[in-house]
Amino acid sequence: MFDLAHQRLEKVFQFISVDEEVVQRLSFPKRAIVANIPVRMDNGELRVFTGYRVQYDDTRGPTKGGIRFHPDVCMDEVTSLSFWMTVKCAVAGLPFGGAKGGVTVDAKSFSKLELERLSRGYIRAFADVLGQDRDIPAPDMYTNEIIMGWMADEYSVMNRRQEPGIITGKPMHLGGSKGRQSATGRGALMVLNEYARRRGLEPSSMTVAVQGFGNAGYHFARLAKQQGYRVVAVSDSQGAIYSSGGLNVEDVHKFKNQEKRLASVYCDGSVCNMLESEVLSNEQLLELDVDVLVMAAMENQITIENADRVKAKVVLEIANGPVALDADVILEENNVVVIPDVLANSGGVVVSYFEWVQNRAGLYWELDEVNQKLQNIMSKEANLVYDIALQYECSLRTAAYIHGIDRLAGAIDQRGNRKYFSGL
Ligand code: GLU
Repeated sequence: MFDLAHQRLEKVFQFISVDEEVVQRLSFPKRAIVANIPVRMDNGELRVFTGYRVQYDDTRGPTKGGIRFHPDVCMDEVTSLSFWMTVKCAVAGLPFGGAKGGVTVDAKSFSKLELERLSRGYIRAFADVLGQDRDIPAPDMYTNEIIMGWMADEYSVMNRRQEPGIITGKPMHLGGSKGRQSATGRGALMVLNEYARRRGLEPSSMTVAVQGFGNAGYHFARLAKQQGYRVVAVSDSQGAIYSSGGLNVEDVHKFKNQEKRLASVYCDGSVCNMLESEVLSNEQLLELDVDVLVMAAMENQITIENADRVKAKVVLEIANGPVALDADVILEENNVVVIPDVLANSGGVVVSYFEWVQNRAGLYWELDEVNQKLQNIMSKEANLVYDIALQYECSLRTAAYIHGIDRLAGAIDQRGNRKYFSGL
């Protein structure tokens, strides 16, 4: 996976020339750590879980990136994701480098107390390399604000002082920021709005299908509907629902929450009648003839197997890496525009940055202020990426990478390179 992530860089170097030392520096993570985390289970048994933290590059600032709890977590995946975080923070112009962490675990089967012990154990294992000026974690797949709260608490207990800026995505009363929960979905919508505006497209005439109805997918769908887009389909891991006239996103969310799965809205009872929706498979959702296909589930969902069947005009990547590298080529040939993850899902880390700033200042902002500041960054950076794509006649993904790598290369160069030291 990391080799594939890295191949994206090679494409960028076809368009811009950077010093060879920059290429060398960006080819390896700065630090990659594995730790085995012992957890006492509720039945008294001791189990040991493997945890990772990769700090890819810190040239532009302390490293930043989430922690995921998932059975597939491995060093290769965490390294790829930490590389993407490095590019993402640079694309958004944040004063951060990139990192990622994870634990190989199926935490869905854990009790709340077991989850708390694992979360605190993660911090004890990696505390030496974390810190508000070193490396700042956040939520990712299957971790949430409660887990961030436990982690922040463990860090302050260990260090015998409060340091809320150690971690972002915390609950509101433990130093979290207003607007962090909805930031990824909201930011992605801002990026899509800029795209539509530049193309002269009206949201009210655009249909949207959303794969993945977790936190980011839900907030995206909710806000998109509010702004006039017709959200015709949403899915979770078990299947999708479709309504050509548009779904009532809030109702779908309400019923999914009652049953903890979207399948609860497939029933024959009142809910389905109320939603007037049809049931689709996840594969069918990806092949719908819509204006925008939103990928908010997980990596490698559009591959060489199904890329040819994607009929959407635009694919918006809210998950990290939902379009595989070779699928990108097929989509490009078929004139499907991909708005890439490193731009489209950066709203989450942008509001994480705001949370960190607020923690350090001890001064907290109202929701309107957070959203306005998010809007300023997302519009500005999205337009810069769209301009680069026009200038170089390249895909939006390559343009976003050019934008981020240019900033990273500047920071690496300004610390001195071979030319500088040999006086050339
Ligand atoms: N896990 C999120 C991401 O992939 C958020 C990272 C953060 O806020 O640091 O962008």
